[in-house]
Amino acid sequence: MIETKVKTTIKKIKLFQKEKILVALSGGKDSAVTCYLLKKFGYNIEGFHINLSMVEYSDKCLKAVEDLCEQLKIKLYVYDIKKEMGSGMCYLRGMIQSKKSLKNCAICGVIKKWIMNREARGLKADKIATGHNLDDEAQTFLMNIFKGSPELSLNSGAISRNVGDKKFVARIKPLFYVPEDEVRKFSKKQKLPVIYDKCPCALDSYRIQVREFMNTLPDKDKLNILKNMERMLGKVGKKNERVSYCKTCGEPTRKEVCKMCELMGMK
Ligand code: AMP
Ligand code: ZN
Repeated sequence: MIETKVKTTIKKIKLFQKEKILVALSGGKDSAVTCYLLKKFGYNIEGFHINLSMVEYSDKCLKAVEDLCEQLKIKLYVYDIKKEMGSGMCYLRGMIQSKKSLKNCAICGVIKKWIMNREARGLKADKIATGHNLDDEAQTFLMNIFKGSPELSLNSGAISRNVGDKKFVARIKPLFYVPEDEVRKFSKKQKLPVIYDKCPCALDSYRIQVREFMNTLPDKDKLNILKNMERMLGKVGKKNERVSYCKTCGEPTRKEVCKMCELMGMK
């Protein structure tokens, strides 16, 4: 059952009731279910949404997130990318892709993570919760293996590493052991206000191919992929690897310049 799986994960990552948890809400089912369950279990949560300014789709996502936070009676912070960075995600991505050959989701992911960490720190949050589910995680892990770069999964897991760094807000994934299908059913049963459409820019054909392959596997196999990942990760790298700070923006990074500044050409 979904609630038991989430409780087990929470216990594993040692979440405390007094901690302030910022739930990263996209407008989709996964983050909405994460938020609903953390609230139900009595955690101190607030919502955080990045308005990516991708016209109609972003308007629908914002409305869903506002409805959810109103229904759950939690505070919502909205970061408007157009206001804060001067342009919407489509424009930013186009600008980056004119110089670097990178997939849409990869760019969007780097930008969202950078914003989330900085804003969560500003809001004095102890943790950021995202809606990543078992399918997402197993899929990313397999993709990293297929690409020959399993080390890219080093920061995966139900809780991020680097939790010891003062500028890094730990990210947690309460749905880590919950298959996507179970999340969808639960969200529909609770009639949560969410957008079920996929992001119109998620056009990475390789990811779609891996997702289609994963969909042929039973949940038990997907869970085994994650369990193997955890066993492998336990053997490589230290839990609290030292990070340094980006010489351009000051955000935590393992390199001299963070991925965000690298994308923005701020080297
Ligand atoms: P995605 O990378 O789109 O698969 O989303 C993974 C998780 O990141 C979601 O479950 C949310 O927790 C978070 N997230 C994605 N998009 C946004 C957004 N626009 N604003 C806030 N959080 C987001
Ligand atoms: Zn930087």
